[in-house]
Amino acid sequence: MIESALVWFRRDLRLSDHAALSLALHSARRVYCVFVFDSDILSALVGVGQTYDRRVEFMLESVRALRVTLRALNGELIILHGKAAMTIPSLASRLSVDAVFANRDYEPDAQSRDRAVLDALSKDGRTLVETKDHVIFERHEIISTDGLPFRRFSAYARMWRQRLGVDDLGEHVVEDEVTRWAAPPPHLATELPTLTQLGFAQSNLAELGIPIGAAGGELLLRNFLPRMADYASSRDFPGQDGTSQLSMHIRFGTVSIRRLVRCARERPSMGADAWLQELIWREYFQMLLAHQPELATEPFLQAFRGWRYLDDAAGFEAWCTGQTGYPMVDAGMRQLVQTGFMHNRARMVCASFLSKHLLIDWRLGERFFARHLNDYDLASNCGNWQWAASVGCDAQPYFRIFNPEVQSRRFDPEGHYLRRYLPELADVPNDAVHAPWKMSRNQQSATRCLIGRDYPAPIVDHQAARERALSALASVSKSR
Ligand SMILES: Cc1cc2nc3c(=O)[nH]c(=O)nc-3n(C[C@H](O)[C@H](O)[C@H](O)COP(=O)(O)OP(=O)(O)OC[C@H]3O[C@@H](n4cnc5c(N)ncnc54)[C@H](O)[C@@H]3O)c2cc1C
Repeated sequence: MIESALVWFRRDLRLSDHAALSLALHSARRVYCVFVFDSDILSALVGVGQTYDRRVEFMLESVRALRVTLRALNGELIILHGKAAMTIPSLASRLSVDAVFANRDYEPDAQSRDRAVLDALSKDGRTLVETKDHVIFERHEIISTDGLPFRRFSAYARMWRQRLGVDDLGEHVVEDEVTRWAAPPPHLATELPTLTQLGFAQSNLAELGIPIGAAGGELLLRNFLPRMADYASSRDFPGQDGTSQLSMHIRFGTVSIRRLVRCARERPSMGADAWLQELIWREYFQMLLAHQPELATEPFLQAFRGWRYLDDAAGFEAWCTGQTGYPMVDAGMRQLVQTGFMHNRARMVCASFLSKHLLIDWRLGERFFARHLNDYDLASNCGNWQWAASVGCDAQPYFRIFNPEVQSRRFDPEGHYLRRYLPELADVPNDAVHAPWKMSRNQQSATRCLIGRDYPAPIVDHQAARERALSALASVSKSR
């Protein structure tokens, strides 16, 4: 047993079932807790012109909630604002702890930050103890017989399910023995910074009613459990309340991934099974990025490395602002900018439209999503973008090109989702709302939706864009 430990909270803003905290409480006589608003991460957001960021607000409020919970247990959360790579070793030294405990993060930047922290700690005779918490199986745990990552998701998912045992889902118990929580010296009991001090203005997060912190994650999970059995049949319909909405909580660790998998396994149904499969997709992308950090910027398929996409600034602008003339794409993009969320079906259609209909580099779309998505996660975002653009590992075949009109007829037949984000289509009847440009001029007048005035004409013709994409992508795809 060591004398004292410092638990460093990062993307794991909860107390229950927390691997690093549990291990620290079992290993040290005194345990301090810290969260750092990392100026390296925050200044990168401000650097791209972001004045508000829902994620920063979500984090701030979740950290506030975490501190309240810790205080109720007689603990304390030290809150710092600065470069984590420097502030953590310096705090560890001021508190004279033996070790820093943290849950492992697999993103390339986080990995180099953690290496820097470990180096600095080691110079002082301390250590960084990292634990697995964000995934059920990490890095090399599910691997093919040749020692390489599975190239087929289906094979990975099969082995993931075969390997899953009770131990993998065991709860990391966080004891509340007050003697183990250590209060920092008064000069280290820092105040929570304000949003302005962090460099951001208020967003519309509060108006959106997104539940915050561990209590918020628990609430969403409890709302979803009675709907879980229907997930397989309802998850694809963006106008329905068919999915869990837990992605932001999974991203910030305000729910435990083990708890989610336990919930799915305790309620066997087709829906629960389909939901579990999505959680496995998440782990697949995490595993791929851990193996190949270059996937953050480079396609998995070598043939597409260095491939030149079209330079179409006007097309990109229309896509970003939800003005492509294709309602399913425009509703998705406007939902993203207005709320920070986009339904998965719309994400697939929007990503396919940018990378195939417009032949614009998927990385531009990936960066735009990264800037706006509340649940932005490097591994999931890059993995899914590469999947949609047909350049990734086990990606969608290049010749599968979503027809946005067909997608919206199939998955939003009554146009509920479309009209929620496209008020200009409010009076357009169901049969026309998926392709308003096909209405006669009289019908457009009658429905107060003149194409070219109230709502844009399609920026590309679907059939022509499809053929252009097929011929461009076929030559590269066949050369590999
Ligand atoms: C182009 C594109 C970009 C995406 N970017 C992200 C991203 O940055 N962050 C992110 O969490 N998800 C991303 N996704 C996956 C998916 O769209 C979201 O996870 C999902 O819409 C979140 O809603 P939910 O929590 O209600 O999901 P549910 O349907 O309830 O699924 C439960 C959880 O499973 C995981 N999950 C579901 N689908 C996927 C998937 N396809 N890939 C990986 N994990 C999945 C998420 O953690 C999700 O919260 C992206 C998908 C596409 C097509």
